[in-house]
Amino acid sequence: MEQALKAGARVHNEKKILGIEVLPDRPHIVTDYGSFADQIVVGADGANSVVARLLDFDAK
Ligand SMILES: Cc1cc2nc3c(=O)[nH]c(=O)nc-3n(C[C@H](O)[C@H](O)[C@H](O)COP(=O)(O)OP(=O)(O)OC[C@H]3O[C@@H](n4cnc5c(N)ncnc54)[C@H](O)[C@@H]3O)c2cc1C
Repeated sequence: MEQALKAGARVHNEKKILGIEVLPDRPHIVTDYGSFADQIVVGADGANSVVARLLDFDAK
């Protein structure tokens, strides 16, 4: 986390991800505190990852 922050990552704590829309320019993330866009989304939301499900990633 420390290295990611040094490299310019932004961490959005206390926000629940409700949806992700992959647009041509960048992913748009919808949360319960509004939406935002960034270049890369890191889904570190556990074994039942909502991020993986929203992006149709099959972890198996
Ligand atoms: C009962 C139990 C006991 C365990 N015991 C051990 C053990 O003894 N040793 C061991 O090595 N492992 C154990 N594990 C497994 C361990 O919990 C996981 O390997 C580890 O926590 C995974 O870390 P993680 O960061 O990937 O996910 P997590 O620790 O699950 O963290 C995921 C985070 O994502 C957040 N999140 C989820 N959905 C959203 C959303 N929609 N929007 C925003 N945030 C979201 C959650 O709030 C959470 O903070 C145990 C698991 C359980 C359930």
